[in-house]
Amino acid sequence: MMIIRLIILIALVSLLIFAYRKLTGSNQPAKKEESLPNTMRKCEHCGVHLPEAEACRKDDHFFCSEEHRRAYLEQHPDD
Ligand SMILES: [Zn+2]
Repeated sequence: MMIIRLIILIALVSLLIFAYRKLTGSNQPAKKEESLPNTMRKCEHCGVHLPEAEACRKDDHFFCSEEHRRAYLEQHPDD
């Protein structure tokens, strides 16, 4: 019945590894970056992509900077 002993041994070892990982894992500060949904937006003026949080916004339009927002609004006064 060596096979059964071997299986039990493997099961025990994997259980130990699992328990060890769980213990060490809980000791570590589970610091997942709690960032806001970082949707990439495209500047309507120059086409550069930047995170929504850093973008200037005008309704549904996003811009990389205040200048580009102004420039866009000058070119599209109807928007
Ligand atoms: Zn731009």
